Amino acid sequence: MKKKMVVISIDAMGASDLAGEINNLPTLAAFRKEATQVQKVRGIYPTLTYPSHTTIVTGEYPKKHGIINNTKIQSHRKSPDWYWFAKDVKAPTLYDVAKKEGFTTAAFLWPVTAKSSIDYNIAEIFPNRIWTNQVLRSLSASSPLFLIEMNQKYGHLRNGIKQPQLDDFVTACAVDTLKSKQPDLTLIHLVDMDSMRHRYGVRSDEAKQALLRQDRRVAEIIEATKEAGTYDETTFVILGDHYQIDVNNMIRLNALFAKNRWLKAKSDATVEKKWQVYAKSCDGSCYIYIDQASSVTPAEVKAQLKQVAGIEKIYTTEEAAAQGAAPNVTFMLEAKSGYYFIDEAIGAVVEAVPDDSLGTSERYKAVHGFSPDKPDYATTMMIKGPGIKQGQIIEAANLIDEAPTFAKILDLKTFPQAVAGKVLTELFES
Ligand SMILES: [Zn+2]
Repeated sequence: MKKKMVVISIDAMGASDLAGEINNLPTLAAFRKEATQVQKVRGIYPTLTYPSHTTIVTGEYPKKHGIINNTKIQSHRKSPDWYWFAKDVKAPTLYDVAKKEGFTTAAFLWPVTAKSSIDYNIAEIFPNRIWTNQVLRSLSASSPLFLIEMNQKYGHLRNGIKQPQLDDFVTACAVDTLKSKQPDLTLIHLVDMDSMRHRYGVRSDEAKQALLRQDRRVAEIIEATKEAGTYDETTFVILGDHYQIDVNNMIRLNALFAKNRWLKAKSDATVEKKWQVYAKSCDGSCYIYIDQASSVTPAEVKAQLKQVAGIEKIYTTEEAAAQGAAPNVTFMLEAKSGYYFIDEAIGAVVEAVPDDSLGTSERYKAVHGFSPDKPDYATTMMIKGPGIKQGQIIEAANLIDEAPTFAKILDLKTFPQAVAGKVLTELFES
């Protein structure tokens, strides 16, 4: 009989969320007693949702799997396209390998799975052009008949892509599918707490309430496997992709570059397509690109960057790649805690985020994307199932270790042996 696995990603869940006593979270507390917990999971650079989720299913760093940021470089667009489509992933994924080996697969808002091989898929994708709409966009990216069925049954739960309704919709769809289709590998992405942290802060009451909601959703998902009769043969994984850090100040490097005439700002604060130097934000970090045809030198750019408050570190091309980030940037910048980068090309280079702007585009109370080595910034993972030690603590591991470990548990024969991460052998009963 094939083994089954359910992976639940609670977006923006940090090690601190599950540290110490968690009795206010009944499902997660009970789960932990029967699980092995990896307390601190070191993320990947940049610690963003799409790169991180792609690492979770490939065991590779962004420079290898290709998802180096959430969004693409489209300097002229207010809202650039995200890396929605599975074709952008350049390393073998758990779900492709599982499918090839005869497993049935399901995914619910798992990043970068649009138009993938997944049998039952509701892709995370949203309309980004005025002439598209959510229904058409989702249909073309997901499993169409499956999405229509789910929308008919549970569409009333959702309100566009607003939280907490979106996660309620996702949970209802996952519960239904676990019961009716009993997929072998199920990937579920819950985003409620990430949204609340961005808007209200890492330790806000709103974020705490969101974690309580996630606890309830996890209970519903586990209960569905009991009703389906698959609970005993299923390995459950509850993990985070990254944590967040509170911020007060935003940095607009493209406004600085505009002053130097290295790019031209458009009236909506985006940047004309032909630029010489461009800053592409990863929130807590930032990629700097110099166009090959430009005569501007890296030294000139670096001299300007050194004048800007809030930049903790300027990494060279080689240093960025050595940390697993994009391989072809001129520089990669790390912000100090409290600061983050935005793409706008008009405005003060460094500005405090006005309270009354929170909730609008690029205005946040907390962000991620920082170096995975920032203090108190690790994420976490709990795993329980047949053959997994109960009540065990592993102090530290890496996000890259998760995919090879999951492949081992599922006994996938053709998942690559030589990925960046390693199997966490300590969690297996001998
Ligand atoms: Zn995330």
